[in-house]
Amino acid sequence: MNLHEYQAKELLATYGIRIQRGKVAETAEAAVEAAKQLTEDTGTQWHVVKAQVHAGGRGKAGGVKLAKNLDEVKEHAGNIVGMTLVSPQTGPEGKLVRKVLIAEDVYYPGESKHEEYYMSVLLDRGTGQNVIVYSTEGGVNIEEVAEETPHLVHKELVDPAVGLLPFQMRRIAYNLGLSCTAFKEMTKFVNKLYKAFVGLDASMLEINPVLKASDDKIIVVDTKLSIDGNALFRHKDIAEMRDTLEEDPTEVKAESFGLNFVKLDGNVGCMVNGAGLAMATMDIIKLAGGSPANFLDVGGTADAERVENAFRIILDDPNVKAILINIFGGIVRCDRVAQGVVDAYKNIGDIKVPIIVRLQGTNADIAKKLIDDSGLEVHSVILLKEAAEKVKELIG
Ligand code: GDP
Ligand code: MN
Repeated sequence: MNLHEYQAKELLATYGIRIQRGKVAETAEAAVEAAKQLTEDTGTQWHVVKAQVHAGGRGKAGGVKLAKNLDEVKEHAGNIVGMTLVSPQTGPEGKLVRKVLIAEDVYYPGESKHEEYYMSVLLDRGTGQNVIVYSTEGGVNIEEVAEETPHLVHKELVDPAVGLLPFQMRRIAYNLGLSCTAFKEMTKFVNKLYKAFVGLDASMLEINPVLKASDDKIIVVDTKLSIDGNALFRHKDIAEMRDTLEEDPTEVKAESFGLNFVKLDGNVGCMVNGAGLAMATMDIIKLAGGSPANFLDVGGTADAERVENAFRIILDDPNVKAILINIFGGIVRCDRVAQGVVDAYKNIGDIKVPIIVRLQGTNADIAKKLIDDSGLEVHSVILLKEAAEKVKELIG
């Protein structure tokens, strides 16, 4: 589950990490009030108006603006709220901005002794360890840095059972070229950041930029945080921060039906029981020359209601040219699933795309007969190979 910048910063602050403070607003007027309050609380003269969407690259897309007075706060907030922000991370359709964060200016005006670093903590699947990725070249161009000068991006592997050790914190501060107070501040910062990553059950925590202010304090200016969805049961407070408006609406709907669904951009919808079989089905669709429109695992109990919900989810996607249903009847009986398909088809009424059903396992032959006799535009097959050939034939 992804969080907004302002939510992530609030969570980091509970670990004693220094953050660029701010307040959220949904209108230009509220932004001005937030800015006034922030000046009272922090003494800041200038403010930064920041679009709150689940995507980075906002600065370059016009979603982060510095305001030197309240009129500018109002102007920028007015422009940013309601804008469709398009960055390399939003996809070409962009994301509608519904909220802005009004933040204190931490790049104290008139002097240039601050530094912007990059730091993230994530899981390194290759080694089965956590990894801290960091660079002196933080800021808005980190993707280019990683591409063109990869030697400037460092990695510190952390054994999750042992945790981050003091020599590792010092190595990071050293590689960032720090000394004296800034060195000490950085080791403390890295320590807290790693504790936050573990404590929050994060799957990814990225701070870019990490700011070294002119007084050598280390400040979090931007945060991207994803929490492992499987750990949300023990973080009720974080689960409540979820903003489903930022997520794919079909995926949200599928979740409410208890279906495991991931939207993809192909043309063959698939409905499968079991994640492994769903992956294999996507492969076979590719082999047949199609491309999967989704991943959908209906689970072990593919009953009529779940099949119908799954149909509706798949049919939400206008790109779908055919639907491949691939069910292995181990726990479920194939004839029950077949009956579910027939009933769902009749209930929905207006299905314009061909459906290929491959049922294998208990009562597969009865299931095939049930579908063949139904008179609907459903093609039943028993072998996966036949299913693939049928897909090829029907999508042309
Ligand atoms: P991103 O573009 O989505 O990564 O958004 P960031 O929050 O990282 O902001 C983009 C850039 O805005 C930063 O790299 C900074 O250069 C600038 N910025 C952020 N906060 C401040 C601030 O308090 N003062 C000034 N002057 N610039 C800021
Ligand atoms: Mn950033």
